[in-house]
Amino acid sequence: MAAQELARAGALVTVFEAKPTVARKFLMAGKSGLNLAKNETFDQQLPHYFEASAALAPMLAGFDAQAVMRWAEGLGQAVFTGSTQRVFPVAMKGSPLLRAWLRYLHQLGVTIKTNERWQGWQGTALAFGSGSVAPDVTVLALGGASWSRLGSDGAWVKTLGETGSALAPFQPTNAGLCRAWSAHMAPHLGAALKGVRLSAGDLSTRGEAVLSQSGLEGGGIYMLSRALRTGAPLRIDLLPDLDVTQIQNRLENVARKASTKVALRKALRLDPVKIAIAQECAHPLPRSARDLARALKALELDHQGLAPLDQAISVAGGVQFEALNDDLMLRNRPGVFCAGEMLDWEAPTGGYLITGCLATGRWAGRGAARYLGLEPAD
Ligand SMILES: Cc1cc2nc3c(=O)[nH]c(=O)nc-3n(C[C@H](O)[C@H](O)[C@H](O)COP(=O)(O)OP(=O)(O)OC[C@H]3O[C@@H](n4cnc5c(N)ncnc54)[C@H](O)[C@@H]3O)c2cc1C
Repeated sequence: MAAQELARAGALVTVFEAKPTVARKFLMAGKSGLNLAKNETFDQQLPHYFEASAALAPMLAGFDAQAVMRWAEGLGQAVFTGSTQRVFPVAMKGSPLLRAWLRYLHQLGVTIKTNERWQGWQGTALAFGSGSVAPDVTVLALGGASWSRLGSDGAWVKTLGETGSALAPFQPTNAGLCRAWSAHMAPHLGAALKGVRLSAGDLSTRGEAVLSQSGLEGGGIYMLSRALRTGAPLRIDLLPDLDVTQIQNRLENVARKASTKVALRKALRLDPVKIAIAQECAHPLPRSARDLARALKALELDHQGLAPLDQAISVAGGVQFEALNDDLMLRNRPGVFCAGEMLDWEAPTGGYLITGCLATGRWAGRGAARYLGLEPAD
């Protein structure tokens, strides 16, 4: 996106990519449906960027969810909004959009050089294995530090750290939760916990979670990453649409002799995975209907933390905004701009990540154009 904006302003642009092909993570993101944005207003969208909201506000205002949709459609890729307001290309995967974008960049005169790993600076020049290049302006968009096999290995931290720029340590976000399950959970691995409320710290969501060999995965867990990574226990409300008294009444209506498991199934229609989770968190389950009702609404699952950084969908941490001017140019390195996931912001899944990367890429590209004395295109 930075290359696009620089080229549209009239600059001669070269993209250097370390991998044999570009945009590998973008393509990977498209494997399960490329969620480009959340179809929300700017005011609804902004708080999802947490502490970075203020810094990102002008960038997201300049390229919000509606702009992302128009951009994809402008590249000939129809989009649709799903039931949870998530926006996807009709083609679902990322490759048709990427191909159209690369064709457009080619028309704008952008050159793409692959297998070119930036290794740092030699004076003011950029050093690559094949030699050095001394551009008038540089935009770094080197990604975060997860799924390193796709290229974003975070190796740039050492080089930028040497410039004295403020960097926040990387932390996993949108990552699975590690939990060593008891043996009785084995038959339920692979099953989804649906229709529950999940909470941790002061975060709460009506998302889903899938039980995996190593713990819990899925959007509902990802939403809570910020709290879970500080060690907060996962709280599960198995019956978010009923209050304690309603649950108690239903439990009291089943035959007194019924086992707790039968009561949970018959009175509350809990499926086997929910019953198993209840037993995992609160064994032995209380006999009294009131206590059982309370327990089912506030199960506490302890855990061994988030999955390792490299397995996270995205990372928190990176170049801090205080190291950058309003155009995303490094204060310690005039003429060098930064964009995308390498900046210190985080957001839940739901399209906020790609939207944030596009918005900051566009902002940095336009700032870089102005730095060259060029007028960014409308
Ligand atoms: C499995 C998965 C699914 C996802 N799904 C979604 C989704 O549906 N919606 C969403 O919004 N987000 C999604 N994301 C997150 C999203 O893909 C990333 O946030 C986004 O791709 C980050 O873009 P970026 O350009 O900042 O970094 P990246 O996409 O990581 O690109 C950085 C590029 O820089 C290159 N590079 C790194 N170092 C160097 C160097 N020294 N020299 C030259 N090149 C270098 C890398 O090879 C890489 O190509 C998903 C992520 C994953 C892993």
